[in-house]
Amino acid sequence: MFNLILFGPPGSGKGTQSEKLISRYGLKHLSTGDLLRSEIASHTPLGLEAKSLMDKGHLVPDEVVIGMISSALDSNAKARGFLFDGFPRTSAQAEALDKLLELKHTSIGVMLALNVSEAELVRRLLKRGETSGRSDDNNELVIRARIGEYHAKTAVVAQYYQHFDKVKLVNGEGTIEEIFRALCKEIDPRLENKVPQ
Ligand code: ADP
Repeated sequence: MFNLILFGPPGSGKGTQSEKLISRYGLKHLSTGDLLRSEIASHTPLGLEAKSLMDKGHLVPDEVVIGMISSALDSNAKARGFLFDGFPRTSAQAEALDKLLELKHTSIGVMLALNVSEAELVRRLLKRGETSGRSDDNNELVIRARIGEYHAKTAVVAQYYQHFDKVKLVNGEGTIEEIFRALCKEIDPRLENKVPQ
């Protein structure tokens, strides 16, 4: 199994690059944002609770997202590997993920961290808000709150993996193809060291 975390602030391009990476490497995409939005769309109690937090730009409680990831790992036991997008977003989530993967005799291969300036993040998110239908994208105050949560709670997650020497910084500004190539350049040599499945 090869598992990777695509890391970066809101608007850094994780969703766009995830789509391209899963199709190239055959990984299962696990995006907590997408899982939460699907709970909202199905009007579940969990979705209802999550929506009010997401609309303010706050994080959803750790137990909720850890539970969602745990079931997703169980229901995709045959996957070649996982691409985690938007998770882990706190140190508690990172520790929980390591334990869940350990139970499955696997671990995180690498964390690829997209680096994008704050001005560019806000510009991209406001632009996405024109068409995405996401209520957290079309209000600059909510966008600033999300970036604030990132600095307060999420940025430390990179330090957690840095400790295990698993973090690679990738320039997240440029064309979609340029960024994709830079990500693949980090992944390919790591996959070569794995036994083909
Ligand atoms: P973005 O990366 O653009 O902020 P996401 O789709 O990843 O978008 O997340 C949208 C919202 O969903 C976040 O602002 C947060 O409220 C919630 N969320 C997503 N993933 C997590 C997580 N791992 N922990 C807590 N909240 C989360």
